[in-house]
Amino acid sequence: MTKLNLNYHKLSGNYLFPEIEKRVEALKQKQPHAALLNLGVGDVTQPLFPNVVAALMAASAEMGDKSTFRGYGPSEGYHFLRKAIAEHDYKDFSPDEIFISDGANSDLADLQEIFSVENRVAVIDPAYPVYVDTNVMAGRTRPLLKTGRYGGIVYLPCNEENGFQPELPNVHVDLIYLCSPNNPTGIALSKETLTKFVDYAKKNGSVILFDAAYEAFVTSGAPRSIYEIDGAKEVAIEVRSFSKSAGFTGLRCSYTVVPHELKVYDAGAFHSVHALWKRRVDTKTNGVSYPIQKAAEALYTKQGQQAIRDAVKNYADRAKNLLNGLKSIGYTVYGGVDSPYIWCKTPPKVGSWEFFDFVLENAHVVTLPGVGFGQGGEGYIRFSAFADVQVIQETIQRFRKLA
Ligand SMILES: *Cc1c(COP(=O)(O)O)cnc(C)c1O
Repeated sequence: MTKLNLNYHKLSGNYLFPEIEKRVEALKQKQPHAALLNLGVGDVTQPLFPNVVAALMAASAEMGDKSTFRGYGPSEGYHFLRKAIAEHDYKDFSPDEIFISDGANSDLADLQEIFSVENRVAVIDPAYPVYVDTNVMAGRTRPLLKTGRYGGIVYLPCNEENGFQPELPNVHVDLIYLCSPNNPTGIALSKETLTKFVDYAKKNGSVILFDAAYEAFVTSGAPRSIYEIDGAKEVAIEVRSFSKSAGFTGLRCSYTVVPHELKVYDAGAFHSVHALWKRRVDTKTNGVSYPIQKAAEALYTKQGQQAIRDAVKNYADRAKNLLNGLKSIGYTVYGGVDSPYIWCKTPPKVGSWEFFDFVLENAHVVTLPGVGFGQGGEGYIRFSAFADVQVIQETIQRFRKLA
């Protein structure tokens, strides 16, 4: 008899996006003429930069010419891209410590594989659902409790009381997922917070998995990389992506930094995490396609860097508009400074799904219910500023009428 990985049955039933889809469909049935504004999904709206498209096309042409055609590339990425990333973003690292991947999502999902299922995991709450769900699938948790949390996971609340800066766990944990600027709160972790976590990890022999998918949006002076913290190389893996900064959500390219200094003590000896991750990548992937890596390389030119700054500024301006607009109407809103997301408090005693429905039905605006990111998101909805300027303006006007 075939046995299944029944850990999948522990996953909470309603995956966020299908549930939202269902509610949006229901509204369309009820109010067929409603002009919906979508500020829900965190996906970019602007096209690829011209020099990225040129690189993509040139590389595609190379693939069609016998003299320049390429087959399999290195699993961990072409040297030209790893070198560009190391030189530009990670001056204290060698290209060899940079792994190219088809998306931060894949690496954030897969990194847990190289660690024992017996490890105890801590996750910021609310958070990008991938961290928790992949640990559930791997069998690192007990079933979902009535509280909406999984037994066996240590949740690190990020809320108004702590200024959205998680406290250290009060029990021993082995793996710690942090995301800064955090999706969905839109708030970056401060240098003090990150220092506390790095010190904790060093003292406790823990490893930090640091999601920096939104680092390009940081303007407040908060750290963009965990490696800005002393000693982080010994305890942290950092994941970055071209998705949000350069509009690569449809192209798929990201990178993960695994420092050589990162060692884990197990079975009586220190082991290189880099060696394990390299082994995994060599076995399980054949890398990212050549044209896409050439497209990513084009981001490390003068035009590429300028285009990223312009694109990020565009989205940041929209986020600021939305943040200030909602604030002026009287909503309690956070984020929107170091990230394209606005974290909006629901009215007193109104749950996040209830407020999501209210906003959908009365303003015809699609948002995300905070609780979709974990119990720590209850009492909030998330707005994404990945939208056209007119959509942002119209949203503010509709909320003004709602109030
Ligand atoms: C969008 C997003 C990513 C994923 O990026 P891809 O590189 O497109 O897979 C990772 N983490 C967070 C928090 C995100 O919001």
